[in-house]
Amino acid sequence: MSNTVTRPDWGKLFSSILAEPGRLGEYYSLFHSYSLGNQALAMFQMTLRGIPIGPISSFNGWKKLGRRVRKGEKAIALWMPVVKKEVVQKDDGTEEERTRRFFIMKNHWFALAQTEPIDPENPGTVPTPETPEWDRATALANLGITEVPFEHTDGNCQGFARPDKLEIAINPLAAMPWKTTFHEIAHCLLHSKRAEAAFVDGGVIDASIEEAEAEAVAFLCCATLGLPGLEEARGYVQSWLGSSAKAEEFAKKSASRVFAAADKILKAGAASKEEAGDE
Ligand SMILES: [Zn+2]
Repeated sequence: MSNTVTRPDWGKLFSSILAEPGRLGEYYSLFHSYSLGNQALAMFQMTLRGIPIGPISSFNGWKKLGRRVRKGEKAIALWMPVVKKEVVQKDDGTEEERTRRFFIMKNHWFALAQTEPIDPENPGTVPTPETPEWDRATALANLGITEVPFEHTDGNCQGFARPDKLEIAINPLAAMPWKTTFHEIAHCLLHSKRAEAAFVDGGVIDASIEEAEAEAVAFLCCATLGLPGLEEARGYVQSWLGSSAKAEEFAKKSASRVFAAADKILKAGAASKEEAGDE
């Protein structure tokens, strides 16, 4: 385990993407089998350490590809789930096995630039970047979200979400239908416990932490997939984070949830069903 970092600073990672959103789409083709949060983590560490951005794999993963990690190279850390079984003694003296799942930073990954061919005559297999297709209908189906007809008389309304019913509606004349779709899906994923039954999003998005979260998810999805609406979502989130108190609240409470929700949306719509996960 890393001696320096025990958990990712999701707020900082999010801000780094906000500063340079173009890079996310570029790197998605390399790292899409990892979670979006881990993609950001990998990019951030490689940039910080001056490692050329390239495909990553584990020590043994590279070995299978005919390459080995060079001596002295320090691993890249990703945020990984760990399942632990523990035996707990109950009050009546009997024992019970319990499973605990939590996340830790694991130093297991190396970039292409940190490896060399095992056989000097053969460079081994270098994974080629590819961007998975993202399909809107597949995403909605996999997320269990139903798109209902848009029945709003207010022409300004771009879309709405009923998180408790897992329903969204998008104005057929929405100015940025991609951004609005991701925004409404995000409400369904993140805000189902809120008392209000519906979020109605007008042309100008309200200022609230829920709206900032939904728009941040839309920003990440548009940035990853290179879809229009990115700059508008970015503008809203940047102005929201312009206040240091709000930025702190967002970093603490929202950033990791925003990464997780965007990742869920991206994975749900990825046509190829390779559930590579974070192996
Ligand atoms: Zn909203």
